Amino acid sequence: MKVYISADIEGITGATHWNETDKNKSDYLEFQNRMTDEVVSACQGAFSAGAKEIWVKDAHDSGRNILAEKLPKNVKLIRGWSGHPFMMVQELDDSFDALIMIGYHARAGSGGNPLAHTMSSSKIDTMTINDQWTSEFYLHGLVAASLNVPLVFLSGDIDICKEVSEVNHHIATHATMLGVGNSTISMQPTESRKAIKEKVKKALSGNLINRLLSVPESFQVKVRYMKQVDAYRASHYPSAKLIDSKTVLFQCTDIMDVMTFVLFAV
Ligand SMILES: [Zn+2]
Repeated sequence: MKVYISADIEGITGATHWNETDKNKSDYLEFQNRMTDEVVSACQGAFSAGAKEIWVKDAHDSGRNILAEKLPKNVKLIRGWSGHPFMMVQELDDSFDALIMIGYHARAGSGGNPLAHTMSSSKIDTMTINDQWTSEFYLHGLVAASLNVPLVFLSGDIDICKEVSEVNHHIATHATMLGVGNSTISMQPTESRKAIKEKVKKALSGNLINRLLSVPESFQVKVRYMKQVDAYRASHYPSAKLIDSKTVLFQCTDIMDVMTFVLFAV
């Protein structure tokens, strides 16, 4: 069994303030370690379910957060950003049996995490696909599904776990914390890691195929920007159009085109 783990930081247990996610701030070290430890727990769960090969994508900010020395042997780590439109699931292909998301967070415009955003916390007010609110989970889950790779497990704030269950209730989730305004109420980190390890093991031992997201036949992507200047600029992406001063519409039939639009227009 070959497993792909995509890891972000804003849904790691207790992550509450941007300083905790920023390499240049002293608060970051604790959360860099905790992000690494939650990925390690997912790897341990996957290995005990029989995984033979694990690839980890460090998918926060610079893509250089996870402490490689702490990872179990036989885990490949993808650091940095290649520029490929698959972004947070770069190198994922149909040779993988399962996708796992660690530290994922509520979408842009949601109140479920003080650090809620979709792809860019400085540019994007909200994003929808076919009028459904769109998170980083949904975008990258669709990429995986288009490759026939099921998303078997996600950990993150309660809000993103709820979104996952609404999209496909077979996908296992672990809620690390509840976001309330600018605060979080989180569980104890050791307990959280234990739950990740156990749930990943169980998820990979069960039926994987019913955890595939269903991929729409066509995509109507609407991005509402925080600033009209960013919307105006993005509206010049081929076949995108401005539908009001801050909102751009892009329509296509292939998830690869959605991701390429997001790569260039966000
Ligand atoms: Zn993120």
